[in-house]
Amino acid sequence: MRDARARALRDLRISVTDRCNFRCTYCMPKDVFGKDYPFLPHAQLLSFEEIARIARVFVDHGVGKIRLTGGEPLLRRNVERLVEMLAGLGDVDLTLTINGSLLARKARALRAAGLKRVTVSLDSLDDRVFRAMNDADYPVAQVLDGIDAAEAAGLAPLKVNMVVKRGVNDGDILPMARFFRGSGRVLRFIEFMDVGATNGWRMDDVVPSAEVIARINAEMPLEPVDPNYSGEVAERWRYRDGGGEIGVISSVTQAFCRDCTRARLSTEGMVYTCLFATSGFDLRALVRGGASDEELGAAIRRIWRARADRYSEMRTAQTAGLRKIEMSYIGG
Ligand code: SF4
Repeated sequence: MRDARARALRDLRISVTDRCNFRCTYCMPKDVFGKDYPFLPHAQLLSFEEIARIARVFVDHGVGKIRLTGGEPLLRRNVERLVEMLAGLGDVDLTLTINGSLLARKARALRAAGLKRVTVSLDSLDDRVFRAMNDADYPVAQVLDGIDAAEAAGLAPLKVNMVVKRGVNDGDILPMARFFRGSGRVLRFIEFMDVGATNGWRMDDVVPSAEVIARINAEMPLEPVDPNYSGEVAERWRYRDGGGEIGVISSVTQAFCRDCTRARLSTEGMVYTCLFATSGFDLRALVRGGASDEELGAAIRRIWRARADRYSEMRTAQTAGLRKIEMSYIGG
């Protein structure tokens, strides 16, 4: 099935909660998402059964990769039950993006439920910088313990995502690269994005991926690597001395909308066809309204075939201010 720009539907990202225990300044700034923030009541969230059913219909329409996101997915109670349900959908590449703070406790149960691998966010090894960026006073050690526990449980290969913001943690690019080099863990550098409408994004705060690569290459020579598949988000590089791989995700300076194969399902059942969408499609109403799988499928076909999103190709200072859905709600 192809969209209006001939892109296939291959990836489904499912947000299982709009809550998080971190308050990362580039995603969920505390001054907006304070203690009185109206998070979604449980009754409005899709149940695991509803998520699994919708995911199955997406798989029937070509989805081969499912990523669970949030907020922080491990905050959703018994999320391993959902992992088990989705792992039962057959040959689907199932993964999870988390902040790592709860991973040490959950790694074994997630692996036992059928999860194969995880991506952990870590924006610095410097405790002062990391605590400032997550704005919830979580230490680096807690995330590193989670990473070790994940690997001990067999969740591999493990990827680490670092959002780079100029003047905040760009000084940590080289320390992070040195730390993860030769570890078998793939470190990816993400350009600071104008997601949502609350993170105060400015182009001046963006460190272009080309600069990240140049900084690392100057000390640890790199060479480009071909993508694993068309539509892969991260551009791959490897150390010439065999020290492993890194990646860059460059939504701001090197748009990759041309082969974007991703749909997103929010925790309350809204489908969004772009990370920078301003509106979505309500599948929960269909599900709770008694729709059949065929009717759900028809809705998904209608949504995808009409899709023409290419936000990153059109980004301007004006578009940055649009009331786009929040990253913490749609989950990346
Ligand atoms: S901006 Fe939208 S269309 Fe472009 S790559 Fe990102 S999610 Fe896909």
